Amino acid sequence: MFERNDDARNSVHGNGADHAAQSIQNNTPNNTSNNTSNNTPNYSVSDDVRGLLDGVQAGRELTAKDAERLLTAVGPDFHALIAAADLARSQDCGDDVSYVVCRNINFTNVCYVGCSFCGFARHKDDAIDAYDRTHEEILAKCKNAIERGATEVCIQGGIHPNKTHEDYRDILLAIKAVYPDLHIHAYSPEEIDFGHRKSGMKLEEYLQWLIDAGLGTMPGTAAEILDDEIRDILSPNKLKTGRWVEIIKAAHGLGLRTTATLMYGHIEKPRHIAGHLDLLREIQKETGGFTEFVPLGFIHERNLLFNLLGARPGPSMLEDLRMIAVSRLFLRPWITNIQISWVKMGHKLGQMALYAGANDFGGTLMEESISRESGSDFGENTPPEEFRRIIREVGRVPVERRTLYDVVARFEDPANDPISLEPKKDVELSGPARSRRSLEKAQSGSNADAPAA
Ligand code: SF4
Repeated sequence: MFERNDDARNSVHGNGADHAAQSIQNNTPNNTSNNTSNNTPNYSVSDDVRGLLDGVQAGRELTAKDAERLLTAVGPDFHALIAAADLARSQDCGDDVSYVVCRNINFTNVCYVGCSFCGFARHKDDAIDAYDRTHEEILAKCKNAIERGATEVCIQGGIHPNKTHEDYRDILLAIKAVYPDLHIHAYSPEEIDFGHRKSGMKLEEYLQWLIDAGLGTMPGTAAEILDDEIRDILSPNKLKTGRWVEIIKAAHGLGLRTTATLMYGHIEKPRHIAGHLDLLREIQKETGGFTEFVPLGFIHERNLLFNLLGARPGPSMLEDLRMIAVSRLFLRPWITNIQISWVKMGHKLGQMALYAGANDFGGTLMEESISRESGSDFGENTPPEEFRRIIREVGRVPVERRTLYDVVARFEDPANDPISLEPKKDVELSGPARSRRSLEKAQSGSNADAPAA
């Protein structure tokens, strides 16, 4: 059953500490096996890690055991891992960094599945903040998204007990009737499972019914860790690994492409992550249907998994970067788009992740409540112009893409950037009153004096 917090910490952080100690020991000045003088610090990489990284460069696939080892790399091994993943990224994707202009629309937050890591779900009688959006409300959000340049809407919701399989189709039909060109990326395998079980149809028939109504791609969410030992603790009522795989393979079989995700930094150990990556790679070899892999760090502040069940408080910076790097090295050449979740990592660690194997910065989102309700404070909206700045700051070239990675525009020269379509933000100025007044005049467009120094 569930391992307590201390065990989980020992298993992950403890392993890390052991490796760190070992690495330091191997690299003490007294260790002269690596051509350094006794007085020179040795920053050399462990033989086994070097062997794995050299093997990847020579075209060898990593095994799950290899991934497990790399997921504990620290010190010089960690730096070598990051450099190897960055090299692989440049070979696989070049220096372009893509993003998609999209809007999240959560059509209901009513859900009875009861996942322990979720801060988003509400009971339907929760008078304060339970919601179930009408088609008019959803269409208003689509309109706003298009006005701000979106090519995609991402539609997901809780598992509302009163909804039927038809409700899922009707949302698609309503959107496509007004916005036929808007790409609809919708419905996690959990939602597909729920709708399918209500429908009485065969799985493929139900999915095709949704495709015919306008479903363009599916998020590969509800994956968390694809290992029932972990799933039974995180979400005992959620679909099991076998069913997730069945739905994803059925979708891919119909030409409906999906993303692939993983949630890390809670109670899992490196072997669970490695097994999950191995399963994704096997599926991809068989179907080719994944568009990208998106590792999602656990947000812990406001949910039961951390506060009552004693999970770790999300990933450390090392875990975040190792996750990106190992994903790049393990999944190549089968899945070559490794996406940063800026909602989980923030922009600055996201920039670092671009040097650890990632090539995609994800979506603008415009609104985001799932991570926010669990305690993430990295905001809900990254406008396209901000993506371009963040990407350029680390010397890469921003590229706006569509959901399936076809290019909308490559922004090599900032002088050719389009104007912002974002609503003007009211900035509340602070500082001395005289400075504030000058800035406010300048912002309102009057010929104000320059702000006081
Ligand atoms: S993660 Fe999804 S399925 Fe689980 S409780 Fe939250 S909304 Fe429901």
